[in-house]
Amino acid sequence: MKQQADIVRVVGEYVQLKKAGQNFRGLCPFHSEKTPSFNVHPTRQIYHCFGCGKGGDVFSFVMEMEKCEFPDAIRMVAEKCGIAIPRPKERSPEERKENQQRAALVEMHREAQTFFVRQLTGTLEGKAARAYLEDRGLDKSAVDRFGIGYAPSGGDALLRFLKQKYPEKLLVESGLISRDQGGSARTFDRFRRRITFPIANESGKIVAFGCRALGDDQPKYLNSPETPIYSKSNLLYHLDRAKEALRRSDFAVLVEGYMDAIAVARAGISNVVASCGTSLAEPQIKLLGRFTRRVIVNYDPDTAGQTATERSISLLLEQDFEVRVLALPGQADPDKFIRDQGPEAYVQLLKVAPPYVDYLIGRARRMDLTTGEGKRQAVNFLLPYVQKIPNRILRSEWATRIAQQLRLDEPVLRAALSKAAAERRSEVKIQPELVGRAAKPVERRLIRMLAEGQGFRQELARKLQQNQLFQGLETEKILAALMLASLSGDPLQPSEVAAALEDRDRRLFFEILFEDSGELTWEEAESCLEALHHRRAEKELAEVQRSIEANPSGPDLRTLLERKQQLMRRLAAAR
Ligand SMILES: [Zn+2]
Repeated sequence: MKQQADIVRVVGEYVQLKKAGQNFRGLCPFHSEKTPSFNVHPTRQIYHCFGCGKGGDVFSFVMEMEKCEFPDAIRMVAEKCGIAIPRPKERSPEERKENQQRAALVEMHREAQTFFVRQLTGTLEGKAARAYLEDRGLDKSAVDRFGIGYAPSGGDALLRFLKQKYPEKLLVESGLISRDQGGSARTFDRFRRRITFPIANESGKIVAFGCRALGDDQPKYLNSPETPIYSKSNLLYHLDRAKEALRRSDFAVLVEGYMDAIAVARAGISNVVASCGTSLAEPQIKLLGRFTRRVIVNYDPDTAGQTATERSISLLLEQDFEVRVLALPGQADPDKFIRDQGPEAYVQLLKVAPPYVDYLIGRARRMDLTTGEGKRQAVNFLLPYVQKIPNRILRSEWATRIAQQLRLDEPVLRAALSKAAAERRSEVKIQPELVGRAAKPVERRLIRMLAEGQGFRQELARKLQQNQLFQGLETEKILAALMLASLSGDPLQPSEVAAALEDRDRRLFFEILFEDSGELTWEEAESCLEALHHRRAEKELAEVQRSIEANPSGPDLRTLLERKQQLMRRLAAAR
């Protein structure tokens, strides 16, 4: 299983990796950084971050990223790599029950999807819905492509369809069926007389529905509630279909709703995702960050949309995204704009979407800049964003630009900026005690040779064991674990050795494995062993000397002096 799993491929789904020598490198997903210190080793099948020290094998990576347990990680890795594995055993009866429930809910959504599609295509009521969709520019190909369906007006059509197979409790938990909060406790369809849009999770499984009223029913949009399989803030609409395009184009278009995402995708921009709601949540940004760190925000131009845009800019900047903003002319949302102006016009505007600071300056210019109070407001509006620009020179350029554009007194603005900059929370520095220790070169080489010394690993391990040469060394525990693994003569599994180590030692071990090794020879191994002998003799000599000085007239003096002579001769011979 582990041999078949490809760590580069799996990690590559989360982190943009670039080849760097024999390794792959990228921005660490576990800490915030601007220069990549996260490394993946294809042959050793391990990863290691030189910044924060996280490291391990493909399973520990998935466990960390997905915040899941080992059995789930195995299953996910197997899925990603197309490896068949026997169904894992659940850990507890509760877990088993939860898994069964989730599986049943996913299956229920699949059936509901079939039901909604059939309602759209095969019923009289559905015909009216189709006419409405045509009117919105959604023809049959679009309906098929995005799985659009229809929830009929009856009130219990879906309920009757699902009731045969699922208990009422589960139906209510799915969010597809509602229960009357009054005395009757009657159950009924949550979605009635609505166009249905299936919402799939990252792996393409339908976990919720977004529904638009066909007539003037309120609310206009009604979505599934949070359920065991659906959490709004952890999902981006269309991501399951956008993955490839996101990686290829290395940018995402972020829109508000599924209608917008569908319109943009149909305009040929497959790398579009929707936050499904006005506020973008941090988990969604992290999710997107696994595919790209460049975003063009294209929210609705209304007040709510503007507020959402500004909030999104802040959140995206905090996560080190490069942000541009597309504000469509004529107060249009993407869906409407593309319908009115055509996809080419949209693509053109997307190409010239300005960096977020330009967008914000535009917003500030609409404030009343004739009064001192108005100017103060405009500066206060812009400052928090400018502060977030990590690069000092860029920050300074923007200050000049803002001053010019808003006709502000530049020195005053600069003073405000530098004050703000001083208060700016600096990038989280890594605490020195967490940084790997600098082990002595001899020990580093021995670790390397025990891990990879072709043909002499076993012999080296034996020699180290015979003389207990590793004892008392800084890397004692690493060497001991490696010796144990090498004595068998089997190929080394770095992650198995790492599993036996404490965090500090594991970090050092991985660091050493990622160093360029050069040729490993038995001659070098012997000289390393010799160096350890020498070091041990020096240490003993120092102890002997201390004993002599501590008790110059003691009964052991003669023995001690003899030993001292011996050690000194040995050390002299080695030079
Ligand atoms: Zn890191």
